[in-house]
Amino acid sequence: MILGGGFGGVRAALDLGRRRDLNITLIDKNKYHSYTPDYYETATAFLSACRPGRKESAQNPPDGEARRLKSSVAIPFLEIFRNRRNIDIVQDEAASVDFENNKVRAKSGKTFSYDYLVIALGAVSNFFEIPDLKEKSFELKTVNDALNIRNCIDELFAARPKREKIRIVIGGGGFSGCELAAEVIGYAQKLAQWHSRPKENFECLIVEGGDYLLKGASSWVQAGAEKRLLKLGVKVVKNYRIAHISETEIKDASNPAILYDVLVWTAGVKANEFVKALGLELQKADTLIVDEFFRVKTLKNVFAIGDIAYNFNKKIGRPAPMTAQAAIKQGRQLAGIIKSVINKKKTWPYIFKNNPFIIPLGGKYALADLGFLKIEGFLGWVMRSATTLRYFFSILSFFTALKLWIKGRVIYLRNDL
Ligand SMILES: Cc1cc2nc3c(=O)[nH]c(=O)nc-3n(C[C@H](O)[C@H](O)[C@H](O)COP(=O)(O)OP(=O)(O)OC[C@H]3O[C@@H](n4cnc5c(N)ncnc54)[C@H](O)[C@@H]3O)c2cc1C
Repeated sequence: MILGGGFGGVRAALDLGRRRDLNITLIDKNKYHSYTPDYYETATAFLSACRPGRKESAQNPPDGEARRLKSSVAIPFLEIFRNRRNIDIVQDEAASVDFENNKVRAKSGKTFSYDYLVIALGAVSNFFEIPDLKEKSFELKTVNDALNIRNCIDELFAARPKREKIRIVIGGGGFSGCELAAEVIGYAQKLAQWHSRPKENFECLIVEGGDYLLKGASSWVQAGAEKRLLKLGVKVVKNYRIAHISETEIKDASNPAILYDVLVWTAGVKANEFVKALGLELQKADTLIVDEFFRVKTLKNVFAIGDIAYNFNKKIGRPAPMTAQAAIKQGRQLAGIIKSVINKKKTWPYIFKNNPFIIPLGGKYALADLGFLKIEGFLGWVMRSATTLRYFFSILSFFTALKLWIKGRVIYLRNDL
């Protein structure tokens, strides 16, 4: 039984499913797998029809062009698990687990039995209990969040008098915040042109609590990203810790208030709320403590991978990062571990390595730090696009993957025309 069809869950299901004698059930609250690395594109995609006041949700799904946009990052499980007869997909929300009787209870009231349980439910935004932050800001954790940011900016450009400024403030100078800020510039320029607005009546600002952007990245990436953002016209404010929020401005304890029209919060994550119903000991950001074989502490047949797990590497002295790359590797290795446990064979511990990473920063530009090689500009963007295609190939059939990749590029490149 796999809870969560994200990067870790899908990889584990595909690899476990190769053994025909295993019956796998994957439970996800959505019908689709979300490709988060392209959310910044979804949130800034130019569509020809304005969508005033529209709030996307499961009950109010997008239509027309926006549906096409959503489908570029929401990949139906039916496509991924086509021809996998031993994998059942259940659309439901996991609510709790009865570890003694090996049963998962879902929100619908149904219960599901398991021999082995994999918890891969990912993370949610962390608002750090800052008053009103959740209510007054947009998140960028789901595809609907991305569409709602897009619609809101679109609406502002259509409705705001031309002489008045539009201000987008992004809380958090991490990867999602920087990617989004850089791409928002191209989107705003396109909208300004469409609505015949002066381009200078728009401002995008990153508000970062620490004294540098992209915590955890190499100093080459940090410096390169800041230079690129400033060149694009993004303003960066560091050491600003949002403490108060009103309808129109944010404020920290010692600095002047900052005005906003759209506030996007990307500055914190914590494990899925589901963990709270488990009654287990939790680590930093409410993550489940696992050993080097992904076993949840004290439970023999329960494993956790991806963002929800706290996988500490004693040698390196820090936990595995909350990234799609790490979740995929963990999903793959866990499938091997479970097969070995069933066959009573020796298993190998998981040791994470520092992965190369690529950060797209507006238009056809990305910074790629591969450790031994550092690439910036168009070539970096080509590498980033190739990484996406490679991922699609790893979970979909050849033509479906190629079609999906082309669809995304055709929509996203409109900002750069
Ligand atoms: C905007 C953004 C950009 C990112 N860009 C990158 C990037 O470029 N590179 C990178 O490596 N990482 C990136 N990440 C991080 C990456 O998305 C996560 O680290 C990764 O998704 C973690 O994988 P996972 O399998 O743990 O969980 P997820 O991929 O989050 O999957 C969790 C799944 O569980 C489902 N679910 C949640 N709750 C329930 C429930 N109660 N019941 C049933 N199903 C449930 C969800 O629908 C989802 O399908 C990005 C994240 C964001 C938000």
